[in-house]
Amino acid sequence: MKKIIIAIDGYSSSGKSTMARDLARRIGYVYVDSGAMYRAVTLYAIRHGIADTDSGVDTETLVRSLPEIGISFTPAGADGTQHTLLNGEDVEKEIRDMKVSSLVSPVAVIPEVRHRLTAIQQEYGRDKGIVMDGRDIGTTVFPDAEMKVFVNASAEERARRRVKELTEKGEKVTYEEVLENIKERDHIDTTRKESPLRKADDAVLLDNDNMTIPQQMDWLLRLYEDRSR
Ligand code: C5P
Repeated sequence: MKKIIIAIDGYSSSGKSTMARDLARRIGYVYVDSGAMYRAVTLYAIRHGIADTDSGVDTETLVRSLPEIGISFTPAGADGTQHTLLNGEDVEKEIRDMKVSSLVSPVAVIPEVRHRLTAIQQEYGRDKGIVMDGRDIGTTVFPDAEMKVFVNASAEERARRRVKELTEKGEKVTYEEVLENIKERDHIDTTRKESPLRKADDAVLLDNDNMTIPQQMDWLLRLYEDRSR
């Protein structure tokens, strides 16, 4: 079997990170969560007063600060989970909160941010044997990836899953605010100029509204076996 690149793109909270991580663990590949990288840049911007919910994002200052923003990951634990590091600090929990979620898409429209993160992501894929999930992995980061999946589920189903996830982590959120944030991010992600979220022509669609996690894994493993032969 040859080593390949697996690109998993899709809408917010479509379950793609969980499936990408589980797939990587099953087949012994490296997993990279590209959304976590955009979230870490956003957290840096919030902490330095470069982005806030009232005044938005100060693009110029953020672009100037990019060389000071170091993003990396801890090695995968036994369950495949990795933590995101911002200049060496573990920020895995903080980058998932609603404040970061509400500012990450405006940060991700900035071309300089995208170019910098795309270069880091491409470096991770140099030796192949990688599963990366995000919005533009199959279209921009790895246009030649041997396996591309585009995940979709209804906004309502995605909001239900996200509320459950956040509530389990102890965050107090309402279904309405989460649904609104998902719709807002879908809109910004699909309409931005620079590498908007769209299905690559050669990506396979996975509509997982009515699929269980084990069913999705079987589906992914079959595709992987086919593509890596
Ligand atoms: O995947 P996740 O929901 O954590 O990503 C957070 C945000 O980062 C997305 O809503 C999107 O705006 C941005 N993103 C992106 N390109 C990627 C990954 C994430 O623009 N490859």
